[in-house]
Amino acid sequence: MKKLAIIIPCYNEEEVIRESYRRTRTVMTSLTCPSEIIYINDGSQDGTRRILNEISAADPQVKVIHFSRNFGHQPAVTAGINHCDADLAIIMDADLQDPPELIPEILALQEKEEANVVYCVRKARDGDHFFKRMTAKIFYRVMNSMSEVKFPLDTGDFRLIDRKIMNEFCRLKERGKYIRGLISWLGFKQVPYYYTHEARAAGTTKYPLRKMINFASMALVYFSNKPLRIAMSLGFAAVIIGLVLSVWFTLGKIYGFSHAESGWTSTITIVTFFGGVQLLTVGVLGHYIGVLFNEIKARPEYIIDEERNFPTQEPSL
Ligand code: UDP
Ligand code: MG
Repeated sequence: MKKLAIIIPCYNEEEVIRESYRRTRTVMTSLTCPSEIIYINDGSQDGTRRILNEISAADPQVKVIHFSRNFGHQPAVTAGINHCDADLAIIMDADLQDPPELIPEILALQEKEEANVVYCVRKARDGDHFFKRMTAKIFYRVMNSMSEVKFPLDTGDFRLIDRKIMNEFCRLKERGKYIRGLISWLGFKQVPYYYTHEARAAGTTKYPLRKMINFASMALVYFSNKPLRIAMSLGFAAVIIGLVLSVWFTLGKIYGFSHAESGWTSTITIVTFFGGVQLLTVGVLGHYIGVLFNEIKARPEYIIDEERNFPTQEPSL
């Protein structure tokens, strides 16, 4: 009989975590296979740590990892996968936007299709406001047009992965992990499961605009060199424009059809334009170098403060 682990990253989720646990636990008791939850507390500053400790003290099927500080959603999920010894794992948000009641259907689909991955596609995003829906829609489409790997559209990290995928995932050495992209990249048999993304049960989003932009730019840089190629194309375009203009003005001077000496406006326009193109291309280049630098430093993706209910340690409150 296969064992299932449910991996749930939490950051400042004190308002929702008990309800989230209750609903997930109810589903677990209805399953025929053995199951457990792995919560990763991503350096929450609110009561999340205390609540998770209480839950894990009362329930041996709940494992908890506390990070030393906030490292981010993707490192938290990575830690969950690294610590998972089950045959199957479901990655889920803590806020009940991904309803735990769907787990039996996802498991059944995995078994029927003998799939290595069941990725959950949001056929509707009931819970998200207009701005989030629009930016997400644009993001997934831009990503697909830029990236060498094709990703399923409108798919978050909510998915089921099997041991093969987990083993391969754990071998990936890069620090910046865009998990949904990496799992697509791994290949094997991946099948979609369509569901309605619900509203957050309580609390507020832990992905403010700043984190969303960081996440999107990380995804782009790790899966595409196109921004560099676009920068180069801009450079080429600028060189050609420059050449045409200089030939035009030189000939104009010789044959007297250009009044270049009175062209203050054109000079300023050209200088500003080329200045802009240069800064932009250097900026794009700098961004890739920054990412390269982070990878070379090879710092761990996260630091663990404490683990609870893992086999090597005795649970204590
Ligand atoms: N999360 C995390 N670390 C962070 C931000 C978010 O572990 O730095 C968790 C959060 O607790 C939730 C999941 O990642 O379980 C997704 O976050 P959220 O629901 O706030 O994002 P949204 O659904 O609004 O995009
Ligand atoms: Mg959410």
